Amino acid sequence: MAKVWHKRKLSKKEVKARKKDKGPVVQEEVTKQNVPEPAEKKVIEIGESVVVRDFASLLNVPVTELIKVLMKNGVLAAINETIDWETAAIVGDEFGFEIKLKKEEIGPKIIQRQKAEGFVPRPPIVTVMGHVDHGKTQLLDRIRKSDVISTESGGITQHIGVYQIAYKGKKITFIDTPGHEAFEAMRAHGADITDIVILVVAADEGVKPQTVEAYEQAKKAGVPIIVAINKIDLPNANIQKTKQMLSEIGLVPEDMGGQTICVPISAKQNINIDELLEMVLLVAEMKGFKANPNRPAIGVVVESRLDPKVGPVAFLLIQDGTLKKGDFVVVGETWGKIRLIEDEHGHNLKTAGPSKPVKVTGLKAVPSFGQVLQVVPDEKTAQQVLVALKKTLAQKEEQKTFKKIGLPIILKADVLGSLKALTDNIKKIETDEVAINIVKEGVGNITEDDVMMARATKAEILGFKVKPFASAFEIAQKEKVKISIYDVIYNLINDLKERIASMLKKEEKTVVGKGRILKIFLTTPSEKIVGFKVLEGQVQKGNYASIQRKGKEIGKGKVLSLQIEKEPVNEIKAGSLGGLKLSGEVDLEQEDILEFYKEQVS
Ligand code: GDP
Repeated sequence: MAKVWHKRKLSKKEVKARKKDKGPVVQEEVTKQNVPEPAEKKVIEIGESVVVRDFASLLNVPVTELIKVLMKNGVLAAINETIDWETAAIVGDEFGFEIKLKKEEIGPKIIQRQKAEGFVPRPPIVTVMGHVDHGKTQLLDRIRKSDVISTESGGITQHIGVYQIAYKGKKITFIDTPGHEAFEAMRAHGADITDIVILVVAADEGVKPQTVEAYEQAKKAGVPIIVAINKIDLPNANIQKTKQMLSEIGLVPEDMGGQTICVPISAKQNINIDELLEMVLLVAEMKGFKANPNRPAIGVVVESRLDPKVGPVAFLLIQDGTLKKGDFVVVGETWGKIRLIEDEHGHNLKTAGPSKPVKVTGLKAVPSFGQVLQVVPDEKTAQQVLVALKKTLAQKEEQKTFKKIGLPIILKADVLGSLKALTDNIKKIETDEVAINIVKEGVGNITEDDVMMARATKAEILGFKVKPFASAFEIAQKEKVKISIYDVIYNLINDLKERIASMLKKEEKTVVGKGRILKIFLTTPSEKIVGFKVLEGQVQKGNYASIQRKGKEIGKGKVLSLQIEKEPVNEIKAGSLGGLKLSGEVDLEQEDILEFYKEQVS
């Protein structure tokens, strides 16, 4: 029997239907999987949406188990993806929980974690950000050296990308890769691991472009910021002026009537580092970061390498749960059985709990930065999870290749206000066919970094009321990176519009046939299988389809495969009936017309 798949978000009708009838297949499977049905339902409150990983944590079930039940309900969601509240409510019900919608949502992560049972305080995870040369590395070194445990055990013996210190008996975990690239890369992987950002600003220079960038990123991620005003030992240090500059970008210090904690320090001369750590602990206490050590571990890769003696080595930060020696795990696209757990002092550990940085071996391949580790019951489940994951990845790839032409750009502007105006306007001019991909945006003149990034991502640089630094200009000429400077927003937007128009002109459609949908067999967020009749011409595997309803195009898709009476074919001609698998996100209906075409890029 063909399974019916639903979109990630279930319709209201389906929600109701499922609440009444829980669906025999799912019910049977879950009770078999030793998930006890409690007499009274426990209540969990969540926001409008929840990340699969966090939801599993709230339900106190392995992520794999949750993903399986989601699949059974027609929802294909990976560990880092979000599901909406209604879906969560249905799936939660299967696990014996009542999932309530939290009315007021203030920082979803924190609330969810605090509410559930078995959750205990965990050390905060801190990232140090700020402008280049303002002292991030020096500060991380200083903090590392100040650690009592390190001094007693002969220091931190290995750099594993993260370290943990104890200060006044309380632990703090630091991401030992300063800079916003690391922060952003982690976020891009769906691993929001930072609890607190220390924004380092040198007192002699004050706020600089990367200070603003770092602040924007932390703000976007909803992470609390503590400002460390560094280099106060320098004769030209000006704390007051730095605070003034901070106020101007929206970080108003407490002594100026705002809420930003600012600690004047010298990383080099070891001044006030204690005070800074106090503040970290204070914010941590206020926010109440929690985790459940009694569940299977979830972690994230912060570094990895292939060791000639022991094979793949991953450096992980445990986010939730406890990792044990001998655990079967899936990490990114690989799996393994944990053979060795070591801390940053080179000590052998049997287990590692929340916020703990560790080195592990036993994986089959080297995972990459930002990938997520999850514990699974056995080797078989590991394989199943990987198969499901590969399927999801393949679908996403398919969508990407079909969907849009991308126009990568790097955007630099004089002030935040104009940057915001530009990005808002740019969003408006995107079309269905062309996506403008802002690879990097920021305030300040165009730097060598910008040019290198443009080269790596094949982006053009657009500057608004800024100039390239001489060195950046030189590299841009050498590397043939295009830089355009504007002083009127309208002109910049207009130029972009023209570029989009010329990109579209390059594509010509050759219509090859037409069909009508007779029946919908399967619907997933990214794929549809339908029964159809070819009305004119023919359709071939690999063609594109313009989906039309009542004479209007409502979306596009790509023909992934064709069938006639369950036999795969490459082509179906006018007059014949067949089955068709289409990629794309459009909701198809019976009677929709499919116009098939080949795309020719001239
Ligand atoms: P990063 O690029 O932000 O990681 O900056 P670094 O930590 O590499 O520091 C840049 C320069 O500033 C180095 O030469 C440091 O020695 C110096 N520096 C860092 N902190 C201080 C400080 O508190 N006082 C003084 N005088 N120099 C500092």
